[in-house]
Amino acid sequence: MNPHWLPDIVSKEKEETELQYQGRLYQIFENDFIFNTICCQQLHVKTKKFPETKGYPQAFIHLTTRQYEGNSERTPDPERRMRLKWIRASIEHFGSCETCSYEKCDRPWVWENGKKIKICLPNQHYLVVLGKRKNDLLLVTAFYIDRDHYFRKIEKEYNNPDFSKKIQ
Ligand SMILES: [Zn+2]
Repeated sequence: MNPHWLPDIVSKEKEETELQYQGRLYQIFENDFIFNTICCQQLHVKTKKFPETKGYPQAFIHLTTRQYEGNSERTPDPERRMRLKWIRASIEHFGSCETCSYEKCDRPWVWENGKKIKICLPNQHYLVVLGKRKNDLLLVTAFYIDRDHYFRKIEKEYNNPDFSKKIQ
């Protein structure tokens, strides 16, 4: 089952316009990554601001859209953006479940692969990737893994000591 600390998904409401939904998602992004400091392994997690699109930071666009095969432009990715709140929660809470100490819910897989730290929620096929920099971490990407073969690849990587230094 989902980690107890995992927030609910944020779906588009029926009466909401695309623009209103995007605005609501941006408030979440701002609150989680711009107005508040977020840490992992005692390092600050930063997000990429440039290049901006219509005034939105690069990271926000990246985390809510996807480049589908055959398309040159990024378009909204419903699976990815409804899980926007999961990014900060995964980074901040993967270490422990205060409700059940992971006796009932699924403990995330967390590992280092070279200059990347990866956090995977295996029951949800959800992945967050952070890049290690000199003095901080950069949020590289976060997405719902919609292909089984890619999920199996991630599982193999996590369990292969050649590519993975397990954090938990
Ligand atoms: Zn739990």
